[in-house]
Amino acid sequence: MGRLQKILIPFLGLVLAFWFYSARDTFKPEMLRGKRVIVTGASTGIGEQMAYHLARMGSHILVTARTEAKLQNVVQRCRELGAASARFVSGTMEDTAFAQHVVREAQTSLGGLDMLILNHVGASYFGFFDGDVEHVRKLLEINFLSYVAMATSALPMLKESEGSIVVVSSMAGKVGFPFTVPYSATKFALDGFFSSLRQEFAIQNINVSITLCILGFIDTERAVRAAAEVLRERPAPRDECALEILKGAALRRRELYYRYSSTRLPLLLRDCAAELLDYLVRSRYR
Ligand code: NAP
Repeated sequence: MGRLQKILIPFLGLVLAFWFYSARDTFKPEMLRGKRVIVTGASTGIGEQMAYHLARMGSHILVTARTEAKLQNVVQRCRELGAASARFVSGTMEDTAFAQHVVREAQTSLGGLDMLILNHVGASYFGFFDGDVEHVRKLLEINFLSYVAMATSALPMLKESEGSIVVVSSMAGKVGFPFTVPYSATKFALDGFFSSLRQEFAIQNINVSITLCILGFIDTERAVRAAAEVLRERPAPRDECALEILKGAALRRRELYYRYSSTRLPLLLRDCAAELLDYLVRSRYR
């Protein structure tokens, strides 16, 4: 048994690594040239970096978040980097009507939509669950319901373009994480909704891809401020993370793992050794 494991596990690793890297190689930046893309939560962090990559690839970009001044700068930089066009709409995703308004803006100003990137995330705390149910409700509105509202409003345009929905989630949406209970709940909800929706698209022959992105620790200001002191691992760079998300989306992959070593590989334990995985997650914290 021991010998079998010694051979089987490295062999499995090699097969997975080959599959992962060969799939990545087929991406070409031209795939996103001229595409009409919405990026939510694009005033900072990974969303901002996705907007810049899309600009370099020559996409039409509509960015959104709450802070107008930051969005103005992002749009300006996108134009300098070569975006086919760049514009913003500011507002809060606490309001479902605003989420729908952003999609309507794409219809009016871009004449359609090829890719909807759902990336924004509401502020939460880092610590033991404090029992505040209202906070959970508010976070579900921002991190989950607005994603559902935007995807629903955008679906007619995405069906027409045979486009893509990209859902930015987290390791905390695949396995229980301590200290981020409300956040983790919203990310699990995204997996349930969008993975089920993908099944229905397959049954109905709807050619709209759904890419669920499972991210580990990334070096955005918010994440580093919240967790750098307590997490043992080093954060991965946000610009590389943003590019990997876009590659996965352009290749219409069902799930994207970044970084692979800190997300997909540990998740292999989930079905065969769930308690070991829980232990490994807890041991990431100082
Ligand atoms: P971030 O830097 O905090 O950016 C969050 C974005 O969401 C900002 O543009 C923010 O802009 C916007 N936002 C916040 N509240 C909003 C609201 N109520 N309405 C509309 N927009 C709002 O986040 P990030 O670290 O780049 O994370 C991006 C995505 O990756 C998130 O879905 C996150 O869960 C996921 N992720 C990140 C990490 C990580 O370690 N960084 C790990 C796993 C998963 P305004 O404040 O201007 O509104």
